[in-house]
Amino acid sequence: MVGQDRGSARRVVVVGSGFGGYGAARALRRPALDVTLLSATDGMLYAPLLPDVAVGAVDPRSAVVPLTGTLGDVTVVRGRAHHVDLERRVVRFTGPDDADHELGYDRLLLAPGGVTRMLDIPGLADHAIGLKTVTEALWLRDHVLGRVELAAVLPAGPTRTAALTFVVVGAGYAGTELTAQMARLTRRLLAERPGLDPADARWLLVDVAEAVMPELGESLGADALALLRRRGVDVRLGVSIESVTDDAVTLTDGARLDCSTVVWCAGVTANPLIATLGLPTVKGRLVVDADLRVPGHPEVYAIGDAAAVPDLTKPVDDDGHRPLCPPTAQHATRQATAAARNIRADLAGDRVTPYTHHDLGLVVDLGGPDAAATPLGIRLKGRPAKVVTRGYHLLAMPTLRRRARVAADWLLTGSRPDDVSFGVVDREEALIARAEGE
Ligand SMILES: Cc1cc2nc3c(=O)[nH]c(=O)nc-3n(C[C@H](O)[C@H](O)[C@H](O)COP(=O)(O)OP(=O)(O)OC[C@H]3O[C@@H](n4cnc5c(N)ncnc54)[C@H](O)[C@@H]3O)c2cc1C
Repeated sequence: MVGQDRGSARRVVVVGSGFGGYGAARALRRPALDVTLLSATDGMLYAPLLPDVAVGAVDPRSAVVPLTGTLGDVTVVRGRAHHVDLERRVVRFTGPDDADHELGYDRLLLAPGGVTRMLDIPGLADHAIGLKTVTEALWLRDHVLGRVELAAVLPAGPTRTAALTFVVVGAGYAGTELTAQMARLTRRLLAERPGLDPADARWLLVDVAEAVMPELGESLGADALALLRRRGVDVRLGVSIESVTDDAVTLTDGARLDCSTVVWCAGVTANPLIATLGLPTVKGRLVVDADLRVPGHPEVYAIGDAAAVPDLTKPVDDDGHRPLCPPTAQHATRQATAAARNIRADLAGDRVTPYTHHDLGLVVDLGGPDAAATPLGIRLKGRPAKVVTRGYHLLAMPTLRRRARVAADWLLTGSRPDDVSFGVVDREEALIARAEGE
């Protein structure tokens, strides 16, 4: 077993260092328990800032909180869990040496998050890029800057049009924020290049749903749609993609577009680790009780995108089912605190309590002065929404140091981000399966 005190009866192993795992490890860091955080990465990624990273408004390092130095006495072990032996109470994982290791636990908290939901669309896995990791955001940024440079040396015509055609699939918060911010970026870049016109960039946002971000409500959703169209985005609703190749994408309505950029933001599904447990799931997410424990395994907790947590603030439906908490950072963060509290209570022989959180609403950064937000159900747009959006992210970002970095990035890039590409990410590394470490 890796670096563990086997005699202790208070060993807590947390799997995953995202909003759920990192938050729980921080809440458990004192007073001392024997806590080990097993993480595939060495930082906690603040994923809602990925569109800002892609557009250059936030430095990639600012969007990642390092695990070392921010978790007190928690032992951080780098590795990818691949098996949980529920009988022996052991987590098996592949370490940085590519060898198999074990961690024993008295309480286990599973928070491995989700992975991009892939569909069986020809060419998707080989040609589309997702937006769940810094690798993808950085590649996308460099790629878009490169497409503009390429267009600058091409004569007007189909090849140039193809170079400047970008297709984003999924009009949820990730796809909408990315498209709105990127369309603004390319308009500015093209305006600065002699011989090119801002209208030369062609961003398409497609979704099978009939609305952009239906979670925003009808009027704000319509405002977001109008803003996207003002930025020249071609929004196509009620369609998806049928196939992707190196240089073209075909939509389900038969339209074919020459382009070499397809960004897949069509949702997440639970981490594959969950399926290996052999325990009940809902839509791939591990079933837990309202106290965040797995039924029949009270020593195992699960939270965040990987867990099917009943939302106690919602009534049961006609079939007697309780709706689940949506897979959001907002819930993962609060579930982290609740799980940490329950693990402490449980180890002390006290009563555990159910998780309950009333959704605080949504914040959507649309780039420049534009945003949409629904804090506590109040619908805001424009600058008031922007203030709420940025304020929310700054408050939610762990550690004062990261808050300061993000605020400084926003301040410095307010008028214009630096348009430099680094070329450090290879295209193959940015493909969804590779970037997400599958
Ligand atoms: C572009 C984008 C924008 C978003 N915007 C918002 C927003 O505005 N508001 C909002 O509330 N939510 C937003 N979300 C959703 C939010 O980021 C997720 O709901 C949240 O990250 C879920 O937290 P989690 O801890 O469950 O998983 P994650 O944050 O994904 O963390 C999972 C962790 O587990 C690690 N891991 C994975 N597999 C293993 C393994 N086998 N072994 C060890 N470690 C492993 C990963 O490396 C990662 O550290 C956004 C997401 C994206 C991608």
